[in-house]
Amino acid sequence: MSTSAQLFEQACRHIPGGVNSPVRAFKGLDRPPVFMERAQGAYLFDVEGKRYVDYVGSWGPMITGHADPDVLGAVRERLDAGLSFGTPTAIETTMADLICEIIPSIEMVRMVNSGTEATMSAIRLARGFTGRDKIVKFEGNYHGHSDSLLVKAGSGALTHGEPSSPGVPAALAEHTVTLSFNDIDAVHECFAEIGDQIACIIVEPVAGNMNCIPSRPKFLETLRETCDRYGSVLIFDEVMTGFRVALGGAQAHYGVTPDLTCLGKIVGGGMPVGAFGGKREIMEHISPLGAVYQAGTLAGNPLAMAAGIALLKKIREPGFHETLSQRVTTLCDGLEERAHAAGVELLTQRAGGMFGMFFTGQSRVDNFAQATACDAGHFRRFFSSMLDEGVYLAPSAYEAGFMSSAHTPEDIQHTLEAAGRVFAGLAES
Ligand code: PMP
Repeated sequence: MSTSAQLFEQACRHIPGGVNSPVRAFKGLDRPPVFMERAQGAYLFDVEGKRYVDYVGSWGPMITGHADPDVLGAVRERLDAGLSFGTPTAIETTMADLICEIIPSIEMVRMVNSGTEATMSAIRLARGFTGRDKIVKFEGNYHGHSDSLLVKAGSGALTHGEPSSPGVPAALAEHTVTLSFNDIDAVHECFAEIGDQIACIIVEPVAGNMNCIPSRPKFLETLRETCDRYGSVLIFDEVMTGFRVALGGAQAHYGVTPDLTCLGKIVGGGMPVGAFGGKREIMEHISPLGAVYQAGTLAGNPLAMAAGIALLKKIREPGFHETLSQRVTTLCDGLEERAHAAGVELLTQRAGGMFGMFFTGQSRVDNFAQATACDAGHFRRFFSSMLDEGVYLAPSAYEAGFMSSAHTPEDIQHTLEAAGRVFAGLAES
């Protein structure tokens, strides 16, 4: 038995499923998860010392690679001053100023501890600001695990969402309308029917939780116009896309401005951090300025702020995001080329520093139904064989891949050579 398998068995005794977040469990993959011990640059090292080229990057934050010396140095510098004070600190203002400078639609920002808290708080704020209860989200978009968001489209009326998890009250799910991603007509129909009851639309501008699905032309513009027409708040969930698809996030990439933005991952440099912010006139409704309650004992934690600020400063270097997306292009073009040469159907989709692989003959994947129609068996075999080859991809066909600036052309070449061997094996099976 491998050391990881032993550790997983031990973990399962007192941790549900052996993991603290479900996707880590390798469910449905017929092998135990790999336990990692350390990470450096583009690499993860498991408990047996095996090295992997990592395209997960802790699910996004590690955009300059693992254990970035500048980020670690910033944390070390603050460490001896104490871990948390529960009082205001100057470093929180530095972080707020930096975010507002990089993302101009954010005029005021509040720090939280996770992406889930960011979206949950932004939705409460949108509801409090508009005095409306209903929210609109899109199938296959993930915004964390708060109750209003663990909802799937109801079978019947457009207006009745159903809980997607036990424990979410049906009465609450009813207020969440779920539409198909990239479907402009569905947005028009929904708002024509109940637009005056809708507090907000929340959207991942590049969907990264059903593989990687960029917005189609005019989709985000339609959301913007519709929210303006009906007095609803437009929330971009940029937890994944923020500082990744472009420095200024997907809103800079697409040129569409939301009212509120949710951030996570990169903004904390790998520490548990999220943030939400946007228009001053909306943000002023948050407690203590306004009546919408929101709080956090550890929010704005000084070590977390130090890590995030160090990382944000680093990725502001001119050309950083161009290089990142060039590397994504090299990887994705190379994967398609090798798959097709082996006779395997593969489509890749990209946006800046994130990408996705679909085992499909379709020329484009625009929504959840198309993403779930891809060959899951091929994905499972590909993932598992790549792991054996020393390449760590997300252990699910519905997660995006993340590039970092620490990935060298040699790392990408190594990945492509491994993929070539694995595709040949897939074609034979
Ligand atoms: N929104 C998006 C777009 C995400 O990808 C995630 C997490 N992957 C979240 C929200 C939730 O963030 P967290 O896991 O930090 O709660």
